[in-house]
Amino acid sequence: MLEVRNLEVVYDDVMLVLRGVSLTVPPGAIVALLGANGAGKTTLLRALSGLLGVHDGEITKGSVTLAGRPIHHLRPAQIVRGGVSQVMEGRRILAELTVEENLRVGAHTAPGEAAANLDRVYGLFPLLKERRRAVSGYLSGGEQQMLAVGRALMAGPSYLLLDEPSLGLAPALVAQIRDLIVEINRQGTTVLLVEQNATMALSIAGHGYVMETGKIVMDKPAAEFLADEDIREFYLGLGAEGAAKSFREVKHYKRRKRWLS
Ligand code: ATP
Repeated sequence: MLEVRNLEVVYDDVMLVLRGVSLTVPPGAIVALLGANGAGKTTLLRALSGLLGVHDGEITKGSVTLAGRPIHHLRPAQIVRGGVSQVMEGRRILAELTVEENLRVGAHTAPGEAAANLDRVYGLFPLLKERRRAVSGYLSGGEQQMLAVGRALMAGPSYLLLDEPSLGLAPALVAQIRDLIVEINRQGTTVLLVEQNATMALSIAGHGYVMETGKIVMDKPAAEFLADEDIREFYLGLGAEGAAKSFREVKHYKRRKRWLS
């Protein structure tokens, strides 16, 4: 179980960005973390993977535990060895290296399992195997996203943290990425999926959380999100209007609707 309890994160000593966030990722699950730009989703992932320091961020309150043990004071490499790997937004691959070299970089925390993990990654992504000697910078956006996911899997994680894997991809590729996440999860890896594409994320997640300005404002089973018309239309932006609005506006809308009826 990966657990975040009452987490507070500050950037540059002054900017409070996470304000008491709690979230649970049970083993075997796919959990979706949704919310608009700037809500704090990436910050939460950084707190889980130990990468806040790189961005002048710091945990000032709360805890992150993995199977009951605190991990929020560990270095990123120790967290990866503990079984938590993050795929950063924007597919940060090493553009000058080949596909296979990029994958081998991902294995540095688990060198003994590199061969088995490489087999698994090539099994999941036959296209990466085909292109294993290609220079990564020349791959398409979709292929680079697969490479970024593959590289994180090279550490043999129990928990995979994905930051907007569908960003900027055409619908057919989004569907492919979604199917891959399902398969990765089926093979035994737990997934925390940060997405702005709520439809995609909720279609495969068991549970969803919504963040707004550094707080979790809603959490429930994914099916309940999709079944609630108000949330669909006014919050997740999946309704006829198509525009995502804030939780406050949803509440306001509900109040107004009650008043009018
Ligand atoms: P996005 O999808 O745009 O990445 P997000 O929900 O992931 O949004 P974060 O990237 O976590 O949100 O950003 C949350 C807030 O923290 C924003 O106001 C952002 O400007 C601020 N922030 C993020 N990184 C830093 C940093 N390194 N230094 C200072 N402020 C930051």
